[in-house]
Amino acid sequence: MPIILKPTREKSLQRRHPWIFSGAIQQEDKALASGSTVDLLANDGHFLARASYSPQSQIRARVWTFNDEPIDANFFRKRIQEAIQQRSTFNLEHDTNAYRLIHAESDGIPGLIVDRYDNVLVLQSLTAGSEFWKETIADLLVEETGIQNIYERSDADVRELEGLPPINKTLRGNLSSFAIPIQEYKLKFNVDIAHGHKTGFYLDQRHNRNRLGEFAKDRDVLNCFCYTGGFSIHALAHDAKSVISIDSSADALSLLQKNIAINNLPTERHTSMEGDVFQLLRKFRDEARSFDLIILDPPKLAPTAAHAEKAARAYKDINLLAFKLLRKGGLLFTYSCSGGIDAGLFQKIIAGAALDANVDAQIIEHLSQGADHPVSLHFPEGAYLKGLICIKN
Ligand code: SAH
Repeated sequence: MPIILKPTREKSLQRRHPWIFSGAIQQEDKALASGSTVDLLANDGHFLARASYSPQSQIRARVWTFNDEPIDANFFRKRIQEAIQQRSTFNLEHDTNAYRLIHAESDGIPGLIVDRYDNVLVLQSLTAGSEFWKETIADLLVEETGIQNIYERSDADVRELEGLPPINKTLRGNLSSFAIPIQEYKLKFNVDIAHGHKTGFYLDQRHNRNRLGEFAKDRDVLNCFCYTGGFSIHALAHDAKSVISIDSSADALSLLQKNIAINNLPTERHTSMEGDVFQLLRKFRDEARSFDLIILDPPKLAPTAAHAEKAARAYKDINLLAFKLLRKGGLLFTYSCSGGIDAGLFQKIIAGAALDANVDAQIIEHLSQGADHPVSLHFPEGAYLKGLICIKN
């Protein structure tokens, strides 16, 4: 039985947005299996889209296609081929062997993330629909990429909203190690695909890390929320005078230390600090410390708009402190990966931070996620990472 929408609630689908919320539905068959395929009909009964059904989620259906076409292995093969083909046109492999191959809704496969780390794919299935087709998709990925190893990192909290349990295990192949060496520009990183954050590495910041390198020479750099050292390694490799890396995760810092070693970078110019950035920035302020370049790349403080107000205060807090710690002419690389805060609001928060820090600053660059994390024009939620490079006058 199809899902019939309430009158006028077909508008978002006509704009090709792929989500249908429970409140838009007039009639549904609640016995339909989780993740199975269902037609979405307008109130007058005409066909709008074919979707996956998520009985437990507020996002009750996610569109596979707006065409009247079968949803089967062949459908997913085409979508996977398109995503692979698109990546091959970016010349990504010139710079790296680690990149996002499938970016969920933005690549026409809601709920499915696939990241490539050299000869391993890491798959994250976040919704009932992607879960329903997971085994088929895994076979297709092996066939279409030629990569035999797939590790599954379906352990993100959002799966709970779909009534799905966390999964963290090998899905295809026979991996002997979960520490995967990758290359990013001319640098090397070890990625822990089994225990690292997300699928193991923050691939979305790749080109921003490279950009940071271009500004790093002879600067005293403070890298806040450093994880396994992405920005720190680029800074050291580009002759930063000193780099301090802060993270609350001891595991991340220990991998950072290894990443410095495998790149033969000067350890004497680097200091790791395990701790809370919010507290350490205050301590540095009280000690009248100063830096030439500060990176703020906090975790997702506002997953949805409902968290935006509280998150805005936290973003403002750290950015205000960073503006105070910067020397004149110093650079702030500041980011938000919060879906609940859009680029306009983020810029306003940073402006408020500069104002309260009594600092004049200019934006010299707007930053975003890399091309391997494309954003469908019909799905603005796909644009989650925003960043600014500011210069303190
Ligand atoms: N810039 C990194 C990614 C940062 S992810 C890169 O390019 O790889 C955010 C990091 O913030 C995570 O490593 C997490 O452990 C850390 N973190 C979260 N809350 C923190 C806090 N209050 N203080 C310090 N680190 C924190």
